Amino acid sequence: MAAGSNLDGLAKALGKGVKRDESLAPYTAMRVGGPADLLVVCGSVDEVVEAVALARRHRVNWLLLGGGCNVLVADRGVRGLVIVNRATSIVFDGNTVCAEAGALLAMLARQAVERGLGGLEWAAGLPGAVGGAVVGNAGAFEGDVAGVLLSATVLGPDGQVVERPNEWFEFDYRLSRIKREKPGQRSVVLAATFGLEPGDPQALAARASEILEWRRTRHPSGATMGSTFKNPPDGHAGYLIEQAGLRGCFIGGAQISELHGNFFMNTGDATAADVLALIEYARTEVKRRFDVDLGLEIELVGEW
Ligand SMILES: Cc1cc2nc3c(=O)[nH]c(=O)nc-3n(C[C@H](O)[C@H](O)[C@H](O)COP(=O)(O)OP(=O)(O)OC[C@H]3O[C@@H](n4cnc5c(N)ncnc54)[C@H](O)[C@@H]3O)c2cc1C
Repeated sequence: MAAGSNLDGLAKALGKGVKRDESLAPYTAMRVGGPADLLVVCGSVDEVVEAVALARRHRVNWLLLGGGCNVLVADRGVRGLVIVNRATSIVFDGNTVCAEAGALLAMLARQAVERGLGGLEWAAGLPGAVGGAVVGNAGAFEGDVAGVLLSATVLGPDGQVVERPNEWFEFDYRLSRIKREKPGQRSVVLAATFGLEPGDPQALAARASEILEWRRTRHPSGATMGSTFKNPPDGHAGYLIEQAGLRGCFIGGAQISELHGNFFMNTGDATAADVLALIEYARTEVKRRFDVDLGLEIELVGEW
């Protein structure tokens, strides 16, 4: 924690809604992770801006979570403040839609399809919120955030709120300018505006259903972060893990899915340490057998 950090002062300033030593497991898709010193759930953009400002004023480290689908939280938890973004408004205006960063991406995709607006069908059933999707340039089925984002409202490290165009994000495969920023000094996405195109509502709905069905049959259900590793150039991380004979492999309560080699599951009582040990084992085996270095798609957060 930074010198002069004042956790108690921050807790007081945040008021009644703040929770102390709150387990982070229920706020993540993997359902593992220790406590946050402080946690606040924000239902509006103003509350998010205020929570970040207060944390900075009290020199307390902070971490923002949307759906918690792309993070593995350490068993020792997170020192400082965790801000859970539940600002979820979605407003359509002609062929554009502006969604607050806590809105679920899959909900946004569904509403676009229902209005006969194309461009987000790839996100049908994709877990997590809009802010996390922008930061990680989420994508599937040849589509991604980079391909459809017009601009986003961003709270910078200097406390200024600025509308940033798509180019500002310097998107790459599951990467953006914000993801490259140092944890603790990152910018915050408050809302994002997407450009859509009118299409045949029935055809859009059919495509979205096809994608949902694909997810239902190809992805395991249960506690998981989705793809653990990025795909290496010209390959698939899941395929390499399966070819290394690791399908179904266990460490403690963590298991590599029988259905998809890149999905690591919490079978019920996994610790974050189990999951990380399994990740390292898979990475080592793939390197040993195929000389391929797998890079993480998920982020490790907290006190490892
Ligand atoms: C079953 C399953 C399937 C999945 N399939 C896919 C897929 O097909 N394609 C894909 O790309 N991903 C996939 N994922 C991963 C995940 O759904 C996406 O990465 C999603 O966009 C993460 O959003 P989130 O809100 O959960 O982010 P979180 O996990 O909450 O956060 C991820 C990172 O973004 C930061 N962050 C979150 N919100 C903000 C914000 N508003 N401003 C700044 N930083 C922020 C966090 O601090 C953290 O560093 C899958 C996950 C699961 C569980």
